[in-house]
Amino acid sequence: MPELPEVEVVRRGLERWVAGRTVAGVEVLHPRAVRRHPAGGADFAARLTGRRFEPARRRGKYLWLPLADTGTSVLGHLGMSGQLLVQPEAAPDEKHLRIRIRFDDAAGTELRFVDQRTFGGLSLHDTAPDSADGLPDVIGHIARDPLDPAFDDAAFQAALRLRRTTIKRALLDQSLISGVGNIYADEALWRARLHYDRPTATLTRPRSAELLGHVRDVMNAALAAGGTSFDSLYVNVNGESGYFDRSLDAYGREDEPCRRCGTPMRRRAWMNRSSYFCPRCQRPPRVSP
Ligand SMILES: [Zn+2]
Repeated sequence: MPELPEVEVVRRGLERWVAGRTVAGVEVLHPRAVRRHPAGGADFAARLTGRRFEPARRRGKYLWLPLADTGTSVLGHLGMSGQLLVQPEAAPDEKHLRIRIRFDDAAGTELRFVDQRTFGGLSLHDTAPDSADGLPDVIGHIARDPLDPAFDDAAFQAALRLRRTTIKRALLDQSLISGVGNIYADEALWRARLHYDRPTATLTRPRSAELLGHVRDVMNAALAAGGTSFDSLYVNVNGESGYFDRSLDAYGREDEPCRRCGTPMRRRAWMNRSSYFCPRCQRPPRVSP
């Protein structure tokens, strides 16, 4: 499952290679890839044809392409294995090519949605009311992510103090803060020396500010690692940024020594997932929430 940094790499690629181009035609090769567009593939193709893409936008892990002068946007769902590729028109079709979007210019490239398992897809949505950046209405409830310049730190910190929840739950709550997945939550909590079950109401403002800083650092580091390849003519997302192999301090490191104190890292089942932490640096809260 791609996390925010991987999706941002794709967004930058789309911004570079697709923005400003006008759709000449759309081929839907598998109906499942447009199942979130209830009017079907033919309607999807007809409504895109002749329209111009504005620069790709992102909120959390959601990615969309506003269509100029329409009040609508194409929302991309990458699912587990979805990829958006900008390919030369002459390149052979990928085995799992699901949607092809051709352009009316002479650039010689087309946009392809490729998805082996077809959990992802593309769909067309109206813009949420009052949205300046074409936010699709179906994701209007998703909070801004911490890399968004308009993210409100003070409001986030105030919400943490008011909510009766625990810190990792809060970090994964898309209505509070978006784009923080399980991996980046564990990494930021390790850096902040906070246990995942710490009640948010016990976090002082400096502590929550510090945590937010670590969340941003982790994401920016992953972006820097994943962003090295976006320059090429190959916009790709499959959950691999290179960051996961090299730079993780907590996630996936069960029984390996903590990089700070040497204590073996632990893994605990947590909400159908896993939490990785250092039992010494990240002490459990004294009172269970
Ligand atoms: Zn430690």
